[in-house]
Amino acid sequence: METKSPPIKIFELTFSELTSELKNRYDKGAYYAAAIFREIYVNGNTHISKAPAFLRSETFCRQLCQDLEINLNPITEIIEEEGLTKFVTELKDGFKIESVIVPMATHYTLCISTQVGCKMGCRFCETARHGFLRNLSVEEIVGQLYMAKFRLGVRVRNVVFMGMGEPLDNYDNVVQAVRVMEDQRGMDIPKRYVSISTSGRVDGIRKLAALNWPQLNLAVSLNAPNDRIRSKIMPINNIYPMGKLHEALLDFPIKNNGAIYIEYVLIKHLNDRREHARQLADYLKPLKVKVNLIPYNPLADLPFEAPDEKDVSQFLDWLVEEKIFVRKRSSKGHNILAGCGMLGKTPHRTTNLNDLTIFDG
Ligand code: SAH
Ligand code: SF4
Repeated sequence: METKSPPIKIFELTFSELTSELKNRYDKGAYYAAAIFREIYVNGNTHISKAPAFLRSETFCRQLCQDLEINLNPITEIIEEEGLTKFVTELKDGFKIESVIVPMATHYTLCISTQVGCKMGCRFCETARHGFLRNLSVEEIVGQLYMAKFRLGVRVRNVVFMGMGEPLDNYDNVVQAVRVMEDQRGMDIPKRYVSISTSGRVDGIRKLAALNWPQLNLAVSLNAPNDRIRSKIMPINNIYPMGKLHEALLDFPIKNNGAIYIEYVLIKHLNDRREHARQLADYLKPLKVKVNLIPYNPLADLPFEAPDEKDVSQFLDWLVEEKIFVRKRSSKGHNILAGCGMLGKTPHRTTNLNDLTIFDG
């Protein structure tokens, strides 16, 4: 009996992997891979039989359409929150994930999720409260970009892996998603427009470094000036303390004039003192970094307090005095870094899908 070949999961394959599949299965080449990529990723049409390249190859097209697997999950909610638009995707097994669209001055940035929940257990984070449920597959990761572009009509230029989950805890799928999304014939999101944010998984940072992708942006959620405070709020620090993290960051490949982004969530009375700014600066000085200072966004039932506006400005000034490049990011509104930290919160306004015209043009 003939065994059926596994499906071709289109959202999981790079251009060259798709080309090899077409070659091995049907003895066809890059011409058809390009036609599939164009139809799906440029025209946003998943019914490839309508593509001109296939009009004269009916038998091949029929066969191919049977083998292709295009799994897109529905957007079940669109939520607007202070300038950001979140959308909720319902996965096949009923789990829900969130992605955030952030309008920037000249483009849109999409913040995507990599896991349902998160294992890292950071004390201040909404996602951590869900615990870890599962990793997202490559197609579930790439699917978020596809849906933002073609169901919501958003011209996404930048992708940041800062949604739900720890990207480097789902390393293989995240790296494959970056590869799939970057092809110019397809989604065309080059690595220089991609950022991966990690809580400091040194193992993952080292694996990423070994790929030698200096264009890719790395962001590290440091959030503390020393091990004592970091271990209190980020359990991962007990496994990969700041010294080990520092060594890995020193070894990380960075493009010319590039930097590693350091995220520092400022929490009142915890990590906001003069001495903390000094310790942080000492830690960061040997590295090429840019700091994003994020005022803590308070969550119900947590013992942490948001800093006042003046505490944030003060801390920023101290870092400037220490000659650290630092920018303030607001926890809400037009800010991808913090906006993504709070995923999993109950939505407070839902927009009808048909009302969403703000992304035209
Ligand atoms: N797991 C990855 C990426 C997702 S979290 C990481 O930790 O880097 C995205 C960012 O949101 C992180 O920098 C995190 O420190 C920040 N964050 C989490 N909870 C927050 C809160 N309550 N207020 C402000 N920022 C928060
Ligand atoms: Fe996970 Fe990042 Fe939240 Fe920590 S801050 S629990 S790593 S999502």
